[in-house]
Amino acid sequence: MRKLVEKKIVLASHNTGKLREIAALLEPYGIKVISAGDLGLDEPEETEDTFAGNARIKAHFAAKASGMPALSDDSGLQVDALDGAPGVYTADWAETENGRDFIMAMTKVNDKLSGVPAPHTARFCCTLCLAWPDGHDEVFEGKVEGSLTWPMRGDRGFGFDPVFIANGMSETFAEIDPAEKNRIGHRADAFTKLVAGALG
Ligand code: IMP
Repeated sequence: MRKLVEKKIVLASHNTGKLREIAALLEPYGIKVISAGDLGLDEPEETEDTFAGNARIKAHFAAKASGMPALSDDSGLQVDALDGAPGVYTADWAETENGRDFIMAMTKVNDKLSGVPAPHTARFCCTLCLAWPDGHDEVFEGKVEGSLTWPMRGDRGFGFDPVFIANGMSETFAEIDPAEKNRIGHRADAFTKLVAGALG
């Protein structure tokens, strides 16, 4: 596996929730991160039907455009009773004419689960892709198992955090301390693998 020796990388995301979590995860390694938004990079279309495929598109696009190694994150929520939906289309379920609306998206998921007996088991998945300008990449996958609750609870976190409770916990991801989410979450799980493989 190729090691990341560069001390400066581009975060190939415009999602402020992801950027905040990844910057906190990278901070102890002395790696400076610049966001794709700060560099004025476009967002490529996510045309693949897997997390890894879309993570690769985003990381290669940012690495080529910036000339620096780039780290992307493709993630989403899989609900077992919905055959894994919304999955890679999690962000799409929130799309409106005026931007993303996650209250609407969470309500949509809850509506589809009406009549389905609880627990509504689900998992967050995260694929991180580290790509270099020469076209090489490394991919790391993480997940966290849990279940959905209703109504939404908490105002920390982002996306579907207010309805997700990790196994063994009683609070949603939007109620727990962000440092705790960065210890047990799907992004943290993928990041641990990145550290072991590309930074270790
Ligand atoms: P994408 O990776 O840009 O396709 O978007 C993934 C979507 O999954 C995000 O917009 C969020 O709705 C959701 N998601 C991913 N990670 C998290 C998380 O840590 N908490 C809550 N929602 C998440």
